Amino acid sequence: MSVLDLARPEIRTLQPYSSARMEAEGAQIMLNANESAWPPAGDAGLGCNRYPDPQPGGLLQALATLYGVRSEQLFVGRGSDEAIDLLVRAFCGAGQDAILIQPPTFGMYAVCARIQNANIVEVPLADDFSLDIERLVGAVTPAVKLVFLCTPNNPSGKSIARTDIEYLAKALVGRAVLVVDEAYIEFSDQQSAVDLINTYDHVAVLRTLSKAWALAGARIGSLLASPDVIALIRRIMPPYPLPLPCVSAAMSELSASGQAAARDNIAIVREQREIMRAALARLSGIREVLPSDANFLAVRFDDAGTVYQRLLKAGIVVRDIRRYPNLKDALRITIGTPEENARVLTVLGGEKP
Ligand code: PMP
Repeated sequence: MSVLDLARPEIRTLQPYSSARMEAEGAQIMLNANESAWPPAGDAGLGCNRYPDPQPGGLLQALATLYGVRSEQLFVGRGSDEAIDLLVRAFCGAGQDAILIQPPTFGMYAVCARIQNANIVEVPLADDFSLDIERLVGAVTPAVKLVFLCTPNNPSGKSIARTDIEYLAKALVGRAVLVVDEAYIEFSDQQSAVDLINTYDHVAVLRTLSKAWALAGARIGSLLASPDVIALIRRIMPPYPLPLPCVSAAMSELSASGQAAARDNIAIVREQREIMRAALARLSGIREVLPSDANFLAVRFDDAGTVYQRLLKAGIVVRDIRRYPNLKDALRITIGTPEENARVLTVLGGEKP
């Protein structure tokens, strides 16, 4: 059985949109896309009068090298958000199929499912935010086409053990696509699940340049999976998802000096995370600071609502995560610059009696 048997039949047979750029390979004069023949003022050599390559070869190659895959195992889109959406659309028929998630987790999986009118099967994380593997496997009915795992998890910050991911990959053969979202993995010591895509055609991994690579504004995210899944996703991707200035920004971040800067950033974030965790744990009014493998901390307060407002009054916005199960008393605080973190501590320190 191939992973494509899990995809929507109408997507497997869909005649994809043929973009003008795909038809223009090798051409010297391009008069097939109703573009402007002249670059815009201030173009800086980018050639923005032309539609971009739908999957630019240079960027694919650079990301494939970074993640240790072949370029036919990689789809690049507008953030991993777009890859999540395309996966749901490719695998979940409206009104019949489902995704499986483990709340509390990243909200876009459920939002994309709702937009597609797919069902959502929930297997909540335990009180310590660990995964109940057997319950999860037991919940994978034939309707479940995608199982999302988020590691490190947003908003808890906890990672899923590699052995658990491997166990799930084996258990889900022929049953569902296992989507491992590694948006924050660069901030952890965990081994990526990327290598599993060479063994299992139903394992897909999400990576992003939005976090450790400091490029949230460029919206560059990757889906790493078997060539079959990637080819399927490319059939339904929007015609030109990657704007030229964004590709250019990503290419310079992925250069040797960009990579060195990203490594420095990651080291600072990890160091600041532990400094913040220890400093927050010493303050009164704080019940718990959850250990985190990511670039944020989930913090439980005696009165999270009041703390949220106090921070807001001081000009600091954090994420109110009290809507999540098991986190009814918690806020999620992203690690900022040392100066920003110190400001947070100063404002929260005012809570001391
Ligand atoms: N996955 C997780 C777990 C996230 O927290 C986020 C962003 N908050 C994303 C994916 C989406 O990231 P992007 O679209 O910027 O790649």
